[in-house]
Amino acid sequence: MFYLHQRLDPAFEELLGRAVAGAPLSRADGARLIRARGSELAALMLAASTVRDQGRGQVVTYSRNVFIPLTNLCRQKCGYCTFARGPKDPLAHTMSPDEVLALAEAGRRRGCKEALFSLGEKPEEVYDFVRDDLRRYGHETTISYLREMCARVLSETGLLPHANPGIMTREEVASLRECNVSMGLMLETTSERLHTKGEAHFNCPGKIPQLRLDTMRYAGELGIAFTTGVLIGIGEAWEERVDSLFAVKEVHEEYGHIQEVIIQNFRVKDDIPMRHKDEPSVYEMLRTIATARLILGPAMNIQAPPNLTPDAYGAYLLAGINDWGGVSPITKDYISPEAPWPKITELREVTEEVGFQLRERLAVYPEFVTQDRFVRESCRPSIERWTDESGFVRWEEHAW
Ligand code: SF4
Repeated sequence: MFYLHQRLDPAFEELLGRAVAGAPLSRADGARLIRARGSELAALMLAASTVRDQGRGQVVTYSRNVFIPLTNLCRQKCGYCTFARGPKDPLAHTMSPDEVLALAEAGRRRGCKEALFSLGEKPEEVYDFVRDDLRRYGHETTISYLREMCARVLSETGLLPHANPGIMTREEVASLRECNVSMGLMLETTSERLHTKGEAHFNCPGKIPQLRLDTMRYAGELGIAFTTGVLIGIGEAWEERVDSLFAVKEVHEEYGHIQEVIIQNFRVKDDIPMRHKDEPSVYEMLRTIATARLILGPAMNIQAPPNLTPDAYGAYLLAGINDWGGVSPITKDYISPEAPWPKITELREVTEEVGFQLRERLAVYPEFVTQDRFVRESCRPSIERWTDESGFVRWEEHAW
């Protein structure tokens, strides 16, 4: 490779050359890449950009969504979470069917196409009053209520549901299949060390890596386009971060259903147990994104949320991402409420300034729309109404 005559370590340059040529990388290779500094980091980013261009070209996507926090109660409390509310918190709430449908309809009127159902994991297992709410809505479990709400939003508004309810059994994943255009679960990390006392996942049984990988596998067996990702800066070591990326790669090689991988940076909030921890820097994000691109290859969609790095997210395009994720004109990011979404006009400006073209996509990526095993008949009318022959959204409202 030609790197402007920079004097790189020859072994590092040889490694980048292999990665760009598509040779498989080992975990040791990944661990070497993710520690790049100085000129090595610049070369790593160039290699990752080259691989992104091979598979995704210059098109960068986003999905226009409405965020539906079906319940903000959860059976666990992760050290970085500000979404889940305690039972005595006046903001603790499970949305009624009328609230869900009114919010979805408001989203439809603002041009949203995705109904992003993000919610706490199985809160009825620990809270009586959640069980009472669910019974009032005609259900025994959150998953069963979620299923009805996804089906009603799809049939009554045409918005395409994408549910993220946490870990699930195979039967639970199957129950959501017909009424979701895609589903999601962040792997976050494969580090079991983070389950010890004082770490981010202490007392969080749903964050056991094997259980999360099982849920991802069920989705693969059932032909569901799936979103996952890693959460960086929650106490994991660099090598553990690389292990997590390889775990995602292995599941995708088995089932071919991982439609996107999110690289999400931990953000400090005042009301979380991890409020005294450092946030990952932009450079740490750049190293991780570029390494993820080289491990996951040219075809994978790699996303970093723009609102979590508001001053510098454009630089992520130079490290190999090709997607900004969901952006909402109507609801805040309930997972990071302190971080407002950029307007689409701003996102377009930043994307074009760096040299790329912004396109709207659905909650299912164009290459999955054309594969029958990933498309439910119930979702097809909305998909056909909104997409052109390329699978991207047909028309775009450039401002809100
Ligand atoms: S991050 Fe998710 S699983 Fe963890 S406490 Fe928050 S809502 Fe629950």
